[in-house]
Amino acid sequence: SLPSGSTTIRQVKLEKECELRVEVTPDAPLRLRLLKGTAEIFGTELPPEIWLTIPPRQKFAVFTWHGATIEMDGPTETDYTADETPMISYVNVHAVLDARRNRAKASPSDSDTSQGPRVIVVGPTDSGKSTLSRMLLSWAAKQGWKPTFVDLDIGQGSITIPGCIAATPIELPIDPVEGIPLDMPLVYFHGHVTPSANVDLYKVLVKELAQVLERQFAGNIESRAAGMVINTMGWIEGVGYELLLHAIGTFNATVVLVLGQEKLWSMLKDVLKTKTNVDVVKLQKSGGVVSRNAKARQKARAHRIREYFYGPANDLSPHSVIANFSDLCIYRIGGGPQAPRSALPVGAEPAADPTRLIPVNVNQDLLHLVLAVSFAKEPEEIVSSNVAGFIWITDINFESKKVTYLSPSAGNLPGKYLIMGSLTWYEP
Ligand code: ADP
Repeated sequence: SLPSGSTTIRQVKLEKECELRVEVTPDAPLRLRLLKGTAEIFGTELPPEIWLTIPPRQKFAVFTWHGATIEMDGPTETDYTADETPMISYVNVHAVLDARRNRAKASPSDSDTSQGPRVIVVGPTDSGKSTLSRMLLSWAAKQGWKPTFVDLDIGQGSITIPGCIAATPIELPIDPVEGIPLDMPLVYFHGHVTPSANVDLYKVLVKELAQVLERQFAGNIESRAAGMVINTMGWIEGVGYELLLHAIGTFNATVVLVLGQEKLWSMLKDVLKTKTNVDVVKLQKSGGVVSRNAKARQKARAHRIREYFYGPANDLSPHSVIANFSDLCIYRIGGGPQAPRSALPVGAEPAADPTRLIPVNVNQDLLHLVLAVSFAKEPEEIVSSNVAGFIWITDINFESKKVTYLSPSAGNLPGKYLIMGSLTWYEP
């Protein structure tokens, strides 16, 4: 790596089936272009000769199947070339999926065989799940399919922000700079960065999302044949493992890709052995995957939220809005202290409804919280409704009874009901 501020342009020659692994510095973007040959970033081909500006902090690899020369301009945290990658095994998986999509497309009238592959990617944190999901989606899109990307990882939230599960069709290879396009994602708000804050709510939302997609697939032969790629959390022990099984069952996954853990693969293979239509496949983790500690994860989350309001390249200008306390209808879902059995009348069961709606008055705890704007028309619909977007509480004035919040757009919010969880953000 070069001292920061240096703008020396340098070239890197990549042999076939090699990759250039780069970590961009936290404070400056990196310019990069393909000079000769062909190369891709996580499944998306680079255009020849055009400079790309890769945002700060990004960790990525430029892979070439046949050889390439790459040019870089600017400092990096690290950059090195690797000749050992699991890319061949990954693209072999893609080839199998592609064949299944073609088979599905060839029999559009049969509701069973017209369903393309439903792939779920599982494994510990930092095993490259999001990256593999991305590659499979981009390779499929390159061949004209429009697979659905489902992200169940509420810790990172690659479609919108953390605290959410979401789905969106991928119609073009994912842009290495812009990321996942956000035209019309289907988003459900859990409100916490780990499901353990409300496991039942997480399951309810996964089920809702799966049902909506099932209905969409029923009416859309093209997206049914393309199938889906589901990214999951890195929590694979105990309740985390149960949630994986729940997701596999709820989405009727037909291909389970297990990254980087023999034990998980063997457990899943065993428990799914009676399901003859489910393949459990073990895949090697890439040596290029960068591990992130709790602090880095927290930073990445804050960065995602910032991106939601300000845009990936600081190209959006959110609006600061002032509202009266009485204008806001805020709800919390489940949680809160439950009455212990001893405090209840004899024979009464504690009311442990994790999806109970609890109205919330404006209070100090709302400061810096990120709230979701529900599409619900009535409070009873809140738990089962998807959300339109998010606001961020920046100030609460108890004298004037006014709340100031940041919103992506000016004007009225797209819904009346707001959902709060524990998702906070502090602008750096
Ligand atoms: P997971 O989803 O399992 O937590 P990710 O796919 O998000 O893991 O990978 C972790 C980080 O490593 C990401 O920042 C990703 O961009 C980076 N990464 C993955 N594969 C490579 C690679 N081959 N070279 C460089 N960085 C990589």
